[in-house]
Amino acid sequence: MKVAFTSDNIAGASDSVWQAMMKASQGDAMPYGNDDTTAEVTTMLSALFECDVDVFLVSTGTAANVLSISAMTPPWGSVLCHSESHLLNDESTAPEFYTGGARFVGIGGADAKIDPVMLKKMVNQKVGDVHSCQPSAVSISQVTEVGSVYSLEELRAITHVSKEAGLLVHMDGARFANALLSLDCTPAQMTWKAGVDIVSFGATKNGTMAAEAIVVFNKTLSKELGFRRKRGGHLHSKMRLLSSQMKAYLTDDLWRKNAAHANAMMALLQAGLATISSVKINTPAQANMLFCTLPEGMAEYLLAAGFAFYGGRWEKGVVRLVTSFRTPQEGVEAFIDCARQFEAGTDQG
Ligand SMILES: *Cc1c(COP(=O)(O)O)cnc(C)c1O
Repeated sequence: MKVAFTSDNIAGASDSVWQAMMKASQGDAMPYGNDDTTAEVTTMLSALFECDVDVFLVSTGTAANVLSISAMTPPWGSVLCHSESHLLNDESTAPEFYTGGARFVGIGGADAKIDPVMLKKMVNQKVGDVHSCQPSAVSISQVTEVGSVYSLEELRAITHVSKEAGLLVHMDGARFANALLSLDCTPAQMTWKAGVDIVSFGATKNGTMAAEAIVVFNKTLSKELGFRRKRGGHLHSKMRLLSSQMKAYLTDDLWRKNAAHANAMMALLQAGLATISSVKINTPAQANMLFCTLPEGMAEYLLAAGFAFYGGRWEKGVVRLVTSFRTPQEGVEAFIDCARQFEAGTDQG
C-alpha cells in the first residue's frame, strides 16, 4: 500500500465536517457571522479554553496569523519569531502587507524553538529610539516547523521575557491539536495560562475544509481585529459555512480524535524508522511531523515505489514526513517495510 507523507493538508476534510456544511447550507441564516452557529462556536471555544474568548473565523492559516499579528504591532514595530517559522518563510510578504510594513525578525534556537536568551537580547533593542523599529510582539509556532513541541516551561520562558518587555504574544497553532495531545495538557494551559494573547487555532490541516479560528484572550485587541478582518477581505458573508465546519470539528472531540490518529501514526513511523540503522532521525517527532536523513538512494527507492514526501529542499538526504488524520496504518507499515527492503538490498550489494 502506497501513501503520501507530503503534508497534513493533502488530506481532505472529515465526513462530519462536510455533512455539517451541507446541513448549514439549507435554509437562510444572517450573514457576516450574525448567525446562531457562529455564536455557538464562540461558546464552544470559550468552554474549551475555560475563558471568555472572542473568535474571528477566517479561511486560511496565513490570514489567521497575519491578521492576529497586525493587531499587535504598529507599522514601526518589530515582530520576533523563529528564523525557521512559517511566518518568515511561507507566507510571502503577507506579514508585511497586513501589518503595514512592520519588521519581522528571525530569532535562533535549537529545534526551531525560539531561544529565550537570544530573545531577551532582542526585546529591549533600541526601545524609544525613533531611528529603529520597536519590538512589539513575539510569535511562537506550536508545533514548530521541524515537528518539535514547546513544553509548558519553554513556552512560559518565552512569554516571561516577552511580557517583561511589554510585548504581546501570538501563537501559530496551525497544528494546535497535535501539539496539545503531545503535551497532554489543557488548551488553557498551553495558551492564556502560559501568557499567550492570541492563538491561531488551526483546524484545516486536521479535518476542516477551510476554517481557522483566531482565538483572542486579550480582548483589548478584539475591536481592531474586527475592522482589520473586514478591511483585509476575510469577513465571509456566508460565515455559517465556516462556523459549521468549526462546530463539527469541536463536536464529539473530532479534533482530538483526528490529531490522536495523526500523532499515533507518526509514533509508529518514527519507531519503525528508528530500527533501520542507516536512517538518522534529525529532530525526534513529538507530534505528526518528522525530519530524518536517509542514506543515499533510499529516498529515490521509496519514491519509485510510489510513496510521496518532500526532500531535496534541505541538506543532502534530508526528508520531511508528515502524517494526518487520514494516514492509514498499513501505509505506514508498508513504508517501513520498503525502507527496510532497501537497506537489506544495499547490505548484500
Ligand atoms: C500550514 C501552516 C500555516 C497555515 O498555512 P495556510 O496555507 O495559509 O493555511 C501556518 N503556520 C504553520 C506552521 C503551518 O504549517
